[in-house]
Amino acid sequence: SPPLLQVNDLKKHFPVRAGLFGPRSERVYAVDGVSFEIERGETLSLVGESGCGKSTVGRAILRLFDVTAGQVILDGQRIDDASPSALRQMRRRVQVVFQDPFSSLNPRMRVRDILAEPIRNFGLAKSAADLDARVASLMDTVRLPREALNRRPHEFSGGQRQRIGIARALAAEPELIVCDEAVSALDVSVKAQIVNLLQDLQREFGLALLFISHDLAIVEHMTHRVAVMYLGKIVELAPKQEIFAAPSHPYTQALLSAVPLPEPGAARSPIILRGDVPSPINPPSGCRFHTRCPFAFDRCRIEEPQLRATGSDQWVACHLDEPPQGWRP
Ligand code: SF4
Ligand code: MG
Repeated sequence: SPPLLQVNDLKKHFPVRAGLFGPRSERVYAVDGVSFEIERGETLSLVGESGCGKSTVGRAILRLFDVTAGQVILDGQRIDDASPSALRQMRRRVQVVFQDPFSSLNPRMRVRDILAEPIRNFGLAKSAADLDARVASLMDTVRLPREALNRRPHEFSGGQRQRIGIARALAAEPELIVCDEAVSALDVSVKAQIVNLLQDLQREFGLALLFISHDLAIVEHMTHRVAVMYLGKIVELAPKQEIFAAPSHPYTQALLSAVPLPEPGAARSPIILRGDVPSPINPPSGCRFHTRCPFAFDRCRIEEPQLRATGSDQWVACHLDEPPQGWRP
C-alpha cells in the first residue's frame, strides 16, 4: 500500500503587491519544491527557523489554501486537486492541533459541543447516545474529567485547553494529525505532559504525526524522522538518530549546536551563523544557504544542490562530498 502521506515537489508562492519602491510585483517563495513521505504511525518533524516555510507545508497538507504546484497525496488520493466531496473525507482523516488553543477554541461553546461538532459534521455517531458516549470517552482519552464537559474553554489552564484541542482532533478519528507548534506556548512541565500524551495516543490509535516545531529538544524526544527546512526547501531529511548524532548539512549542524544536551551542565558549543536569514522574496541563487555557509564555493552560488541519499535513509542537499567535521565559523 502507498505511504499514508506523500508530498511531491510542493510549491507555495504568495504574490506580494508591488510596493512603494517599484512597480514590479514580486513573489514570496514560501515553499519551493518540498518532497517527503509519512508512514502510518510515524512522527515526522519539520524543523527550521521561523519563516522557513514549515507552517506553510502544514497548511498545504490541510488544504487551507490552493498550492502553486506539486502534489499532496493521502493514501494514494490527491488532496491538492480533490473534489469537494472527496476533500470532505480527506479532511476527516487529517486533523490539526494549533499552537494557541485560546484562539482555536470557540470561547462561547461548552467542551461538550466543541467535541460533538466534528463527530456530527463527519456523521460518525450512530445515535444521540453514541454521540454522548463518544464525547465522554474522548475526555477519558485525553485525561480530562467528564464533569468538565459543561465548562467553556476559559475555565481551563493552557495545558488543559490543549488537551481539549487534541480531543477535538481525535473526535474525527484521523490517521494523521498536523501539530503546528502544538506545545510551544506551554510551560516546560506542561509541555512534557502534552508530548507524552501525544506519544501515548500515537501508539494507541496508530496515528501519524507531522510535528512542526522550532523546539529541537522536544523534537529529539518524540520524533522518528526529521526534515530540516531552510528558506522554503528541505536541506536534510533523516532518522532522528542520524540528525542528532551526525548531522550532515552545515545548516543542520548550526541549528543543532544550539540545542542543550540532556546531561545537566553539558552544552554543545553553539555555532553562530553570520548574517540574517535572507528574504524569501528574492532567495539567494544556487544553494540558498550560501550567503551564510562558511564552506560555500563557486558552484554553491550557481547550482542548486538537490537532495541526495548519503545513507540508507538520509538525504542531504549540499555540494560537499563529506560533511564538515567540528567546524566553527
Ligand atoms: Fe554550504 Fe555549498 Fe553545501 Fe550550500 S551547497 S550548504 S553553500 S557547502
Ligand atoms: Mg510557523
